[in-house]
Amino acid sequence: MNLKPEPLVYELSSPGRIAVSLPERDVNATPIPASLARTDLPLPELDELTVVRHFTRLSQKNYSIDTHFYPLGSCTMKYNPKVNEQTASLSGWRNSHPLAGDEFSQGSIELIHRLQETLREIGGFEAVSLQPAAGAHGELSGVFMIRAWHQARGDVKRRKMLIPDSAHGTNPASCTMAGLAAVTIPSDAEGGVDLAALRAALDDTVAGIMITNPNTLGLFDPNIEEIARLVHEAGGLVYGDGANMNALTGVFKPGEAGIDVMHFNLHKTFSTPHGGGGPGAGMVGAGSKLKDFLPGPLAVLESGTYRMRMPSKSIGRMKSFYGNFGVLVRAYTYVRMLGAAGLRRLAENAVLNANYLKVLIEGTYPVKYPRRCMHEFVAMGDIAEGVHTLDVAKRLIDYGFHPPTIYFPLIVSEALMIEPTETEDKDTLDEFAEALLKIAEEAKSHPDLLHAAPSTTPIGRLDEVAAARNPVLCYRG
Ligand SMILES: *Cc1c(COP(=O)(O)O)cnc(C)c1O
Repeated sequence: MNLKPEPLVYELSSPGRIAVSLPERDVNATPIPASLARTDLPLPELDELTVVRHFTRLSQKNYSIDTHFYPLGSCTMKYNPKVNEQTASLSGWRNSHPLAGDEFSQGSIELIHRLQETLREIGGFEAVSLQPAAGAHGELSGVFMIRAWHQARGDVKRRKMLIPDSAHGTNPASCTMAGLAAVTIPSDAEGGVDLAALRAALDDTVAGIMITNPNTLGLFDPNIEEIARLVHEAGGLVYGDGANMNALTGVFKPGEAGIDVMHFNLHKTFSTPHGGGGPGAGMVGAGSKLKDFLPGPLAVLESGTYRMRMPSKSIGRMKSFYGNFGVLVRAYTYVRMLGAAGLRRLAENAVLNANYLKVLIEGTYPVKYPRRCMHEFVAMGDIAEGVHTLDVAKRLIDYGFHPPTIYFPLIVSEALMIEPTETEDKDTLDEFAEALLKIAEEAKSHPDLLHAAPSTTPIGRLDEVAAARNPVLCYRG
C-alpha cells in the first residue's frame, strides 16, 4: 500500500488565514530600514490548528527508539530512560547561566566533577575532560593531544597515524584534520589487527595508532596489550575509540590496557539522545602521559570549592563554556541510576543480546568472522541470486524495523551490521530474527518484493546516489 505523501505546509496555505493575534501596539512604530525590509516573502498562511495537526502528523512518521526497535550497528541506539529528561529539566540546571561564574555555579561544577570521576573510574584513566561535543570531536581532541605531546618533546617528525582497516571513517578524518597522515593497517584472518603488518609499519615517523576495541566487527582484539606495547616501544601513543564501550562497562578498563587517550560517546553508551545531529558529548579520558594535555577547562575541587581549571599543557578549548551541559546531566543521571553493578550488567546483557540474535540468523545470513561476538556482529545480506544487502534492509522497513547499518565496515562485502543493545527484550529479538528469516525466504521465492521495498512508506525506494548528489534541502514551490 502506497500512502499519499503528506502535503507540504505551503500547499495547505490559504490566503488570509493566520495563527497569531498580537496585542494593540503601545509604543511608536519604527519602520524597518528599506534596505533591510523584505516584503515579498512567500510565507504560508495557516491557522494554528492546521499547523499543529500538520507537524504532529509529521512527528508521528518519525522512526524512533521510543516507537520501534533500532538495531543500527555501531550507533548503540539504546532506550534513553525518561528519568534522564526529568533531571535535565530541573530548573536549577535548566536556568543556570554559563557566565554566572564558579561561585554561583557550584552545583553544576560539582556535577561535572562527579561525572568526570565516574567516567575516569569506568575507563581506568587518570583524568577526564567533558568538553568534546561528539565522538569524532573527542577523536580530534585526542589526536591534537598526541601531536602536542610529541611536539613538546621536540619530536616533530612523527606525522603518521596508524588506523586499522576496520575503523570508523571518523578516525582517518580526525587524524587528517589534525594534520597527520592516516596509514591503513590490515586486519588478520581473525578480524583483529594484523600484528606483522603493524610491526612493519612502526618506525620513528609514527605518532600513534587509533584503535577500536571491540572493533566495528563486534570482535574483541585479544592482542590489545601487545598492540599497545609495540606502539609504545616504537615511541608512539595509543588512541582508543570508545564508541563500543557498551560491550565493556564494568568489565574492562581500557586505560589499564595501555590506551593513552580515548573518547566515550555519551550519546551511545551513556543513554543520552543522539538528537538530529546533536547535541552529543564525547568525553575524552587520558592516562599519565597525556592528562595535562586534555582540552579544558576541567572541574576541580580546591579547598572545598569547585572550580573550572585549564590543565597545565592543555590543547585549549574544544567547546564553549561547559560543553553540552544538559547532556552531561542526563549521562550523570544514567550512571547513578545503574550504579557499578548495573553498569556491568549493561555490558553483559548487550553482549548476550547480540550473541542470541547472531545464533538465530547466522545459518541464513553468514557471519564472516563467526567467533563469539561482543555487543554487535556483522552478517552478510547477499542471500539469494540478484539480492543485495540494500534490498534486505529496505524490506525490513516493510516489517516495521529500522534497518541495521549496511555496507560498513568496508572489509565485509554486503555487510549488515547489527547491534540490538541491552535494552531490548527477547520477544523483540525473536520478532526481528523472524522477519529476517522470512525476508530470506522471500528473497528466493519473490525477490521482486525485496527489489520494490519499501512499499509501506509514504515514499518508496529512493535513488540514493541522486539524492546524495543533488539534494533538495529547501522548499521549491
Ligand atoms: C559513532 C562512532 C564514532 C563517531 O562518533 P560520533 O559521536 O558519531 O561523532 C566513531 N567511531 C565509532 C566506532 C563509532 O561507532
